[in-house]
Amino acid sequence: MVLEAVLGQEKLMKNFIRALEQNQLAHAYLIEGQHGLGKRNVARQMAKGICCRAIQGKPCDECISCKKLDHDSHPEVIWVQEETSIKIEAVRDLQKNIQMKPYEGSKKVYIICDAEKMTLQAQNALLKTLEEPPEYVTIILLTTNSNSLLTTIISRCQRLKLLPVALETIEKYLIEKKAVAKEEARVLASLSRGIPGRAIQLLEDEAFQQRRQKVIKLTRHLVDKKTFYLLENLQDFYEEKQFIEESLELMMGWYRDVLLYKHTNKADIIINIDEIEEIIYQSDILSLENIKEMIFIIEETKNNFRSNVNLQLNLETMLLQLKKRVNESIL
Ligand SMILES: [Zn+2]
Repeated sequence: MVLEAVLGQEKLMKNFIRALEQNQLAHAYLIEGQHGLGKRNVARQMAKGICCRAIQGKPCDECISCKKLDHDSHPEVIWVQEETSIKIEAVRDLQKNIQMKPYEGSKKVYIICDAEKMTLQAQNALLKTLEEPPEYVTIILLTTNSNSLLTTIISRCQRLKLLPVALETIEKYLIEKKAVAKEEARVLASLSRGIPGRAIQLLEDEAFQQRRQKVIKLTRHLVDKKTFYLLENLQDFYEEKQFIEESLELMMGWYRDVLLYKHTNKADIIINIDEIEEIIYQSDILSLENIKEMIFIIEETKNNFRSNVNLQLNLETMLLQLKKRVNESIL
């Protein structure tokens, strides 16, 4: 149960539990990792271990403390979360709270989410607490970006880095725990780039499959239709500006599949496995060299997009260049 809750971070969790069993916990931890890797889940499981009432096998998942943590209603586990910045007042509140001994159990855990949002003043105030917290207190800082934290803060914490998760692990999780079909799980896992939260977000985003289908349709039209139709397709992209980067990534992934299939004739390494017939069709039509060039063109467009060049012009140029490569292949 504990390890399941921290998908892909089992090793880190096992090390923590070993330290807990040997009574070698740090006063403060800094959990670092990209958005969606499960920092909060890891922190929750750590808090569970710290507060658990069982004599052995912590966290037991059975005791009142573990159960309360499962519902985020443990009175001695305090989450600090702020929308914008974490100001000094929030740290002062925390410091006042820390002075009060736990009345339920013998431990208190403070989890500061998005610690990089702490203002400089707030960080300086927190330093004092990190230096000498009461023995019943553990402080856990979560951050996507430790560069925004004072080095003195970082040096007082034990650092735990969450790394991207193996795609097979995410795929298996989606199939077994989320009842996702095998082919779809492969697609979602690949697009997650090793971030479980991203795979789940895509799974729950109903419009995502539609956006993906639009991209696939565009690749089909590149092969079959005249340039005029293609430019009409572009309309779909403009309408959803916030998803353009995602669409370009989908497109790159698509042509990587076409390239891989052309190279190997093997379907088992293809990401867009649910569209294998279309992949085979396009890999028949396009030359190896042109597929490579097309991937490069899309990548370049994506980079340009980041540097804010004219969006419409950028996409039109991309399509025309892609079409040119397709035509070269067909000739
Ligand atoms: Zn327990």
